[in-house]
Amino acid sequence: MNKSQSASILVVDDNEMNVDLLEDILEQANYVVYTALNGKTAIESMQATQPDIVLLDISMPVMNGFEVSEWMNTQDTLKDVPVIFISALDDTNNIVKGFDVGGVDYINKPFKSREVLARVHTHVTIARQRKEIEALRQRERQQFERMDTLRSQFISSATHDLKNPLFVISGYTDMLEMNPDITGNKRVKGFIEAIQRGVEKMTDLVHDMLDLLQLETEVTLDTKREDLNTFLRYVIRDMKLRASEKDITLTLHPADEDIAVLMDTKRMMRVFENLLSNAIKYTQDGGTVDIHVLEAGDTVAIDVVDTGLGIPTDMVENLFQPFQRVNSEEHMAQEGTGLGLSIVKTLVEQHGGTVEVSSVLGEGSRFRVTLPVHEEKDTQ
Ligand code: ADP
Repeated sequence: MNKSQSASILVVDDNEMNVDLLEDILEQANYVVYTALNGKTAIESMQATQPDIVLLDISMPVMNGFEVSEWMNTQDTLKDVPVIFISALDDTNNIVKGFDVGGVDYINKPFKSREVLARVHTHVTIARQRKEIEALRQRERQQFERMDTLRSQFISSATHDLKNPLFVISGYTDMLEMNPDITGNKRVKGFIEAIQRGVEKMTDLVHDMLDLLQLETEVTLDTKREDLNTFLRYVIRDMKLRASEKDITLTLHPADEDIAVLMDTKRMMRVFENLLSNAIKYTQDGGTVDIHVLEAGDTVAIDVVDTGLGIPTDMVENLFQPFQRVNSEEHMAQEGTGLGLSIVKTLVEQHGGTVEVSSVLGEGSRFRVTLPVHEEKDTQ
């Protein structure tokens, strides 16, 4: 229905005189009117004409007005068409029931033409505005989807195109580094090392961006049942070396019992590797990093707690957004892309879990991953 078109109205009543009267009133006001004398023909007419609004008598033989309205609620194309019930004066119970089954308004018999027109006009206007809003939303959704696809394509092609030249630069700088003319030249060697650091940083960024993109688009998980304690023992084994390089004590506090979690092991490894490597990275030498496993019925919380730099309160809320980094000298002294935590969030949410952080600046941080516990006791 657009503004220049007249709205179409289906009038349903088993009393032919009422139908004729309503038809006259509405046609004089330039509405397109369809009529039906019982529920069955009303349904046929609705399917054929898709009216903008339905005036529906309540008491009709075979299929009453409520039943017609309930049927309309089951039809995708008709469930949003406004229904105005036609009821006998003072029939309060029926009026209430009419609203319960989806009616938007009612008209009392005998009709007053001005009242009929006022009510119809109001609901035609509301329906028209609702359709306009829905069309606007739809256009916005499509525009957003187009922009999102464009964004993904841009990141994907830009990062792919960067990979190759980075590889070439890295190869040649490695060769230069080994060149006997250069090994003796401290100054040039320093330049080469600076190039290598830059290339490493860019390579990390390119990989993280590609990973995030891939994880967002590939949502199918390859899940299996894992015992959480065993899984975490495995993850921290690889991290111990990194921790010991900074003299950091890394300790797992497993749950007393086995806890089964359905997980895509590779992706979940990525979650805890990111959290642990951050904890180690942003904790000063000699500090501690602890992992606590806390079961609470249907869910299990895994806390990664460090005694490191901490995070300012105003940064906590957005920390899981891409490229968010704490802009302090100490934080920035660590290499990072600002993408690790958004990868963590994407992965945890794909597992039906949540991740949150609490932190005290200068004292340390706690990252809590909460995952659903797998109930089924199978033998896998
Ligand atoms: P990055 O690659 O920069 O480490 P992340 O997305 O993993 O990216 O983390 C985003 C930012 O959050 C980091 O740059 C750092 O400022 C802060 N951060 C993350 N983990 C910790 C932590 N355990 N302690 C203090 N700051 C942290």
